[in-house]
Amino acid sequence: MTKYVFVTGGVVSGLGKGITASSIALLLKSRGYKVFMQKFDPYMNVDPGTMNPIQHGEVFVTYDGCETDLDLGHYERFIDEELNYTSNITNGKIYSSVIEKERRGDYLGATVQMIPHITNEIKHKVYEAGASTGADIVITEIGGTVGDIESQTMLEALRQIQYEKKAEDTFFVHCTLVPYIYGSNELKTKPTQNSVRDLRNLGIRPDALVCRVPFPTTEAIKKKLSLFCSVSEENVIDSVDVTNIYEIPLNYHAQHIDEIILKHFALPIKKANLKDWEDLVQTVNNLKDEVEIALVGKYVELHDAYISVAESLAHAGYKYKVKVKINWVNSEDLEKESVNLKEVFKNSKGILVPGGFGTRGIEGKIKAITYARENKIPFLGICLGMQLAVVEFARNVLGYEDATSTEFNTISKHPIIDLMADQKSISNMGGTLRLGNYECTLLKDTLTRKIYGKDKILERHRHRYEFNNIYREELEQNGLIVSGINETNNLVEIVELKNHPFFVGCQFHPEFKSRPTRPHPLFDAFVKASIK
Ligand code: GLN
Repeated sequence: MTKYVFVTGGVVSGLGKGITASSIALLLKSRGYKVFMQKFDPYMNVDPGTMNPIQHGEVFVTYDGCETDLDLGHYERFIDEELNYTSNITNGKIYSSVIEKERRGDYLGATVQMIPHITNEIKHKVYEAGASTGADIVITEIGGTVGDIESQTMLEALRQIQYEKKAEDTFFVHCTLVPYIYGSNELKTKPTQNSVRDLRNLGIRPDALVCRVPFPTTEAIKKKLSLFCSVSEENVIDSVDVTNIYEIPLNYHAQHIDEIILKHFALPIKKANLKDWEDLVQTVNNLKDEVEIALVGKYVELHDAYISVAESLAHAGYKYKVKVKINWVNSEDLEKESVNLKEVFKNSKGILVPGGFGTRGIEGKIKAITYARENKIPFLGICLGMQLAVVEFARNVLGYEDATSTEFNTISKHPIIDLMADQKSISNMGGTLRLGNYECTLLKDTLTRKIYGKDKILERHRHRYEFNNIYREELEQNGLIVSGINETNNLVEIVELKNHPFFVGCQFHPEFKSRPTRPHPLFDAFVKASIK
């Protein structure tokens, strides 16, 4: 008997709907309920895997290999549950599946329509999330804002769910903005009233309002919102601006949102256990020292493109009570002749090269890696960062000047990184990377083996190219240590360097598994080495 919380948004985007959904889920979990989360994105791409980070920010990858919206990263970090392929539903996915069924003849001669065929498919995805995970409560966030053309069928499906389920089985939270007008010094409720009216025009009645405000609203404002929006006063929740996002669940908890929802669901109100989270908030608010780490990427103006990496660095910092300050370095800038690397990395105690695709900026990243290797600065290379670390080693230690990845140059004599055989025949770009969990065996007497404290690990992947085994022996003979391999496919997963305080490159993305209360071992060790 799954219960459903739906989180919609109105007035403007960027109100923190994802954090609100995550906070609600965290609070319900803290009261002993099994929760699962889902995000609906109304765009027509099947998944964000083929989108430019400038459009979309980071692509988050679930353990089962689903390329998803970056909000899923917030979800996993807040609720500390592994989400799966049912967690991110796009219009692209819904439409492809309906069209595939139509071609197969599944609709038995019917005219295939938005209602009921598209809406049935959407409803199926909501119910599937509950059924496949056995969750007590599924929290579904709808991307975009109410009134967008794209999300109409999604909201219509939710209206049908509200209608076909019992009143105590669904709960709708609408996130809006209550702006403050300078001059008249007032908080304004009209945008929220209009947004709720838009929602009601679609047949959906919100059960609670979460209002983004610069400071707590007054009772009078709550009364007004309650009257105009038909939401009881205590169900009007303030979402006050914060500098530490981890405070948000506690702020909602203080306004009893979790009790309100459980009461509505007629579920027992078990005691909330928020101890770990409260400690986390304390830690984050009391970080004394600071360490600077350089992140060298090509989308550094858009921090969302590296959000899980930035979060993972912060998590490791919390463990050592240190604030990690990121020195965002644009890899293309490092390619200029005139660049002074010493100046760029002047205050950076560690250098990280994250994942990436395409040729732009790679020579700058390689320069940064040489700098880290030669100057014994702690280095962590993730996915493309690991591939480039191997290329750098082949160029500057083995002396293969043209060493590269065939992603950038297909005619080089030294393709140190190359396509796997099974990737060579692929023509579709979407969903065909090596994705999700693969096992990695850590080799004896390596730094990585020591860091993890075990010899088998599961990490999430998202790449097409691989370490070229033809060069393995030669690289190893010259001091590159292969410390992790996937035995099934004989693939190199982790490399490290001798005689260096910390130099690790991994083919997978450890950032997807880091949690604020449980930093990922590699980030932990990297930040620790950088502090030292
Ligand atoms: N572009 C590289 C590949 O496809 C690395 C991908 C990544 O960094 N996520 O293999």
